[in-house]
Amino acid sequence: MSSASLPMTIRRRLDYPKDANLCEYCTAKCCHYFALNIDEPVNRRDFDFIRWYLLHEHATVFVEDDTWYLLVHTTCKHLQDDHRCGIYETRPSICRTYTTAECEFEDDWVYDKYFETPEQIDEYADALFGRQFPDPDTKKQDSLRSRRPTSLPIA
Ligand code: SF4
Ligand code: SF4
Repeated sequence: MSSASLPMTIRRRLDYPKDANLCEYCTAKCCHYFALNIDEPVNRRDFDFIRWYLLHEHATVFVEDDTWYLLVHTTCKHLQDDHRCGIYETRPSICRTYTTAECEFEDDWVYDKYFETPEQIDEYADALFGRQFPDPDTKKQDSLRSRRPTSLPIA
């Protein structure tokens, strides 16, 4: 059997003793990103702001429970090679108050909605408001062809 067909092993916190410090078994997933709550986009201008976020490397946007977040995949400058905090005694309060009780140790990173590219958020906005930009693939000689239909509405 090739390794590609092997089932993926997912670590679950229940697999570890109750008194285990999960951080000892983790590659510091929580130190590799930051996420900020953002306003839900309600018009074209709002979506264009999100498109701007997504034009930047490592920026993504996700929606969970109707709340929108800007998620930037970037590693903290103080994370050490052994996955420990290099400024543990003076780490920010957000790091101090974060606990393993509800952390992403076993998170599968699946969201209600997830946008990784500007094209994805554009397509989503196009479905809501109609196309913003002409199709770049449309050439002058093709102008008699039917317009590309707008995407189906998103429920
Ligand atoms: S708090 Fe959770 S995600 Fe962060 S290092 Fe510990 S186990 Fe990993
Ligand atoms: S300050 Fe320490 S705990 Fe906080 S994100 Fe950076 S490495 Fe992680």
